[in-house]
Amino acid sequence: MSFLSATLDRVKPSPTIAVTTKAQELKAAGRDVIGLGAGEPDFDTPDNIKAAGIAAINEGRTKYTAVDGIPELKQAICAKFKRDNALTYTPDQVTVGTGGKQVLYNTFTATLNPGDEVIIPAPYWVSYPDMVLLAGGEPVFIAATLDADFKITAAQLEAAITPKTKWFLFNSPSNPTGAGYSWDELRALTDVLLRHPHVWVLTDDMYEHLAYGDFTFCTPAQVEPQLIDRTLTMNGVSKAYAMTGWRIGYGAGPKHLIAAIRKVQSQSTSNPCTISQWAAVEALNGTQDFIAPNNEMFVRRRDLVVQMLNAAEGIVCPRPEGAFYVYPDISGCIGKTTPNGVVIDDDEVFATALLDDTGVAVVFGAAFGLSPNFRVSYATSDEALKEACTRIQGFCAGLT
Ligand code: PLP
Repeated sequence: MSFLSATLDRVKPSPTIAVTTKAQELKAAGRDVIGLGAGEPDFDTPDNIKAAGIAAINEGRTKYTAVDGIPELKQAICAKFKRDNALTYTPDQVTVGTGGKQVLYNTFTATLNPGDEVIIPAPYWVSYPDMVLLAGGEPVFIAATLDADFKITAAQLEAAITPKTKWFLFNSPSNPTGAGYSWDELRALTDVLLRHPHVWVLTDDMYEHLAYGDFTFCTPAQVEPQLIDRTLTMNGVSKAYAMTGWRIGYGAGPKHLIAAIRKVQSQSTSNPCTISQWAAVEALNGTQDFIAPNNEMFVRRRDLVVQMLNAAEGIVCPRPEGAFYVYPDISGCIGKTTPNGVVIDDDEVFATALLDDTGVAVVFGAAFGLSPNFRVSYATSDEALKEACTRIQGFCAGLT
């Protein structure tokens, strides 16, 4: 008998770790490495939010709180849903967790039985399938391909639904592609879901505020209010408020689901960090003025990266609607050979050779379930992005 749990055999270690570790090793060895792997904004938490955290410490608001969040934060979350999404939730329909990640994890733990299926459009955020597997469920993937702008269609969703489907997991704008569904595109999906009342909707709205140009964010229960009784609307402060380290995420849904999530949390971590909760109250209730200028900066960087990557031989890079990622296709590089004699068989070899030869660290597409691609996070300085893209162009030009 193995010492380790059999459940652990169902999951793999994060495939992104290999690239990240290698990048760190090269950096430690003095190499000039440009990291385009980080999934977080490169700017600091805004001052008003920091001040709210400091005030909480100074005023002694540092003790245990209610398991799934202080009333003030739940109120702020309800107000946010009303203001931004035209969704009406009451505080007892809200749960606050240690990052959006914990809300997702608790939800699967609280609801999945062996054999239950969770439909996940691919490419996906790396943690989704493994969280489902850890909870005993089965991930079912739908390919969101380049020619469909990395979005799934209603027909694909319809075809993936079985009597065992428990959740449809939706993420727009997406990590890793940045693709965002318009109201009409989402409407087509919610029409399918209306026909299948046993399917619940878990929408990961983490990148809601990182939406650019003409694109307007929308969320399933807003587009189809009839779905509200079987939707968990998940969101958090990590990305838009540059609060990744504060670890606050939240979800809203039917009371019985929220109570089940609370039960899991009550027997694991209890409340999310008290100080962070107070900071999150300020994030949601305070000024939102910094979001627009930050987004202008992200748009500039996105356009720079898209233009420069499309100028690289063998790369096709669509221009996404949101988040801070692009997901270029490298079909034109597969089968070619680097000057060092490495044959680019797949996107993992591409990413490793790119790092070895140029010092640019990206995450290969297989980690996200759609190949051959790689993910670039453009949440870094214009200078670093220009230099990294120039090196990628040089790397591609050197392939034969
Ligand atoms: N969902 C998506 C799509 C993400 O990209 C991330 C973080 O990278 C999360 C959820 C988790 O967010 P948090 O840091 O709040 O746990």
